[in-house]
Amino acid sequence: MPKIVIDELRCKGCALCTIACPRGLVKMSEKINKQGFLPAEISEEDLKQCTSCSLCAQMCPDVAITVFRETKK
Ligand code: SF4
Ligand code: SF4
Repeated sequence: MPKIVIDELRCKGCALCTIACPRGLVKMSEKINKQGFLPAEISEEDLKQCTSCSLCAQMCPDVAITVFRETKK
């Protein structure tokens, strides 16, 4: 299960999430999405550093980021 999922089709490329992440894990893609924006992305490697703090998701005006947290059993 990934810790965050960025919905590329909702993303407007505003880059606010890249500023929001305290660890600087969210980056802007170099590939244009179907809407003609450069969407935010996070690499597999960076996902391992993600703390699921959800600051990136809270910052996103387009609700393009979903955060998952592991629940303790
Ligand atoms: S959930 Fe937190 S640590 Fe993970 S990418 Fe978003 S802002 Fe960064
Ligand atoms: S804040 Fe949302 S819309 Fe803006 S770049 Fe990040 S994911 Fe895309």
